[in-house]
Amino acid sequence: MSSDGHTGPIFRGRRRGVLLALSSPSGAGKTTLSKRLISQNPDVILSVSATTRDPRPGEVDGQDYHFMSVDAFKAKAAEGEFFEWAEVFGRYYGTPKTPVMDAVEEGRDVVFDIDWQGARAIAEQAPEDTVRVFILPPSLALLEERLRKRGQDTPEIIKGRMDRAKDEISHWHEYDYIIVNDDFARALEKLSLILHAERLKRTRHPWLDDFVDAIMDEE
Ligand code: 5GP
Repeated sequence: MSSDGHTGPIFRGRRRGVLLALSSPSGAGKTTLSKRLISQNPDVILSVSATTRDPRPGEVDGQDYHFMSVDAFKAKAAEGEFFEWAEVFGRYYGTPKTPVMDAVEEGRDVVFDIDWQGARAIAEQAPEDTVRVFILPPSLALLEERLRKRGQDTPEIIKGRMDRAKDEISHWHEYDYIIVNDDFARALEKLSLILHAERLKRTRHPWLDDFVDAIMDEE
């Protein structure tokens, strides 16, 4: 019997985790937003990609990347262990699938810091579990200014990055939610609200089938 004197089936089961795929043109704040979201929600994990390139000084295996040989990578790709993989500057990079789907089954949320192709691949393979969020800069001029300020990039490299930014933005309509990052604190709050609302979505609560059956069978 519950505290208000009502008798009935009081049980609930485990929910499925949320796969939160975050994309944005580089410089729009996606990486900082995903790191802050995780630091505020320690139960949320960040997907760690696999790569065949060597670790850079300070990089930690299993934290920055899963570093592996070309043979090991190819074997995993052949076994369908990646949501997607790509060759970048002669090195392979891939997004592991099995640990992510295990986390979802255990009710843990996973954040992906990923481009539109990667986000699309995850959404295609786990449509019920995936939520896609796109972070937009408040203006392209501001994005260019941030890129210019942050590095020693030549004007040609900056132009290349701006072209890639426009290509990334052109896929905005594939996303479930759009956040304009004109105020970091507000953007983070919106991202957190999306995660918390998505956790409540009916399809993430398979135990509800039994629960509703039970309350419908109540005398
Ligand atoms: P870096 O070697 O500088 O860490 O990354 C090089 C490039 O590989 C970046 O453009 C990065 O976005 C991309 N990359 C990292 N992980 C993955 C992944 O899992 N899949 C794909 N397709 N690209 C990735």
